[in-house]
Amino acid sequence: DQEVADYRKSLAIRVSGFDVPKPVKLFEDCGFSPVLMSAIKKQGYEKPTTIQCQALPIILSGRDIIGIAKTGSGKTAAFVLPMIVHIMDQPELEKEDGPIGVICAPTRELAHQIYLEAKKFSKHDGIRVAAVYGGMSKLDQLKELKAGSEIVVATPGRLIDMLKMKALTMTRATYLVLDEADRMFDLGFEPQIRSIVGQIRPDRQTLLFSATMPYKVERLAREILGDPIRVTVGEVG
Ligand code: ADP
Ligand code: MG
Repeated sequence: DQEVADYRKSLAIRVSGFDVPKPVKLFEDCGFSPVLMSAIKKQGYEKPTTIQCQALPIILSGRDIIGIAKTGSGKTAAFVLPMIVHIMDQPELEKEDGPIGVICAPTRELAHQIYLEAKKFSKHDGIRVAAVYGGMSKLDQLKELKAGSEIVVATPGRLIDMLKMKALTMTRATYLVLDEADRMFDLGFEPQIRSIVGQIRPDRQTLLFSATMPYKVERLAREILGDPIRVTVGEVG
């Protein structure tokens, strides 16, 4: 309705897609558990950033999303918080199960930042996060993965290596995030991304975030997302 349209306009949010949920104003509007709410407050996050206001209700409703917003806009929490809700809704992992949530990022540094953020928000719920990128020996990584974790944060190359080594399976994975998709393409990871996506069940929820949307990224998004809602914040895109 007009009020929602005006509210989006005031925040410089543009959306496209069917049945777009309306943006929230507060974290309290998201239906988060008390445990997750206190983890959010502990981070000093008082209210959602602009991208979070629109992305959170979309992702929490189970829809696929293309999120386009510049660096520093708070995209990490936009996909990590609903991932925790998604995981808490699932039956517990069996020992041999692989992760429920898989996050791919272009570089070790970016993956590590996401890893830290995911840990902060998920540790109080007993959710385990595994880091699958350079910096740890492949053998140590393999051991960590064999012990089980609900979330895997990975660079595409290292994740492919681990899959080849049968260090994990993705049969339980139902929540896939491709973060900084444009940079992953710039770094030549398109084949690895396609291979990873091809190994995750098609009834997954897929989230793609990017600062820009070059044609190659747009084409991949069309192929691997189902009825996505596209959200753009600000002048990017
Ligand atoms: P992006 O991925 O869009 O570049 P980040 O997720 O890295 O942005 O977030 C940028 C900074 O903003 C981080 O320091 C993060 O902790 C902080 N941040 C994210 N969401 C909020 C919020 N709702 N309130 C306050 N700070 C936030
Ligand atoms: Mg980011």
